[in-house]
Amino acid sequence: MRTPLVAGNWKMNGTRASVAELMQGLAGETDGLTGVETLVCPSFVFIQQVQELIGKTSIKLGAQDLYVEAGGAFTGEISGPMLADAGCQYVLVGHSERRALMGETDEIVARKFAAAQEHGLVPVLCLGETLDERQSDATMAVISRQFLAVVETVGIEAFRNAVVAYEPVWAIGTGETASPEQAQEVHAALRALAAKRSAKIAADLRLLYGGSVKAANARELFSMPDIDGGLIGGASLQAEEFLAICQAASS
Ligand code: PEP
Repeated sequence: MRTPLVAGNWKMNGTRASVAELMQGLAGETDGLTGVETLVCPSFVFIQQVQELIGKTSIKLGAQDLYVEAGGAFTGEISGPMLADAGCQYVLVGHSERRALMGETDEIVARKFAAAQEHGLVPVLCLGETLDERQSDATMAVISRQFLAVVETVGIEAFRNAVVAYEPVWAIGTGETASPEQAQEVHAALRALAAKRSAKIAADLRLLYGGSVKAANARELFSMPDIDGGLIGGASLQAEEFLAICQAASS
């Protein structure tokens, strides 16, 4: 049984005041939802504030990135041990914005995935194809390459304690969502790919969909058999909208 996960990626947004307001809207509200896990991933500077505001509620805390090394002379970077010490349980790795804008390669993403697990964090591995890649029928090749780059580095066993988010780049922040059928096709292919290494791990692996998910389209997406929740960007910045998405994933 896979418990759906709805994760909010706040990206580089917020102020202490807006974070307080957003958390006031969320804290306590998710506790009544059954059969869904809720996660928020604020910017590094808000992690401590969010951790305090989460208090005893069921909301989980995550970060948006980490560095491959555990500590040392890496000015400006944040390590896995720091995130774990700050109360994070999850961390996104390989978000398409980091791959495209910060030059993160499959190799770096795989090292970040391994670093996260080494320090007790659950990695949420993000992968997805660009519009050009979809239009040239390369979707499955790209998804397989991105997924297998991590599997070859850490082994399929590592996916016992990980989440994968399929996020077509053309759907992120564009308002254009993959249809439930388009998303399901990729999710099923990813699960089949994992199943070639371990049927049990593949069956238990949570596969999230991300890309312009909102309250209006969440239920239909989450009703697909291989979609186990969502990674939500823009819509996670509004408490009511995010809660409605969490509601759509709950049982
Ligand atoms: C994301 O950044 O992971 C994302 C899915 O963004 P949005 O929901 O805004 O498309």
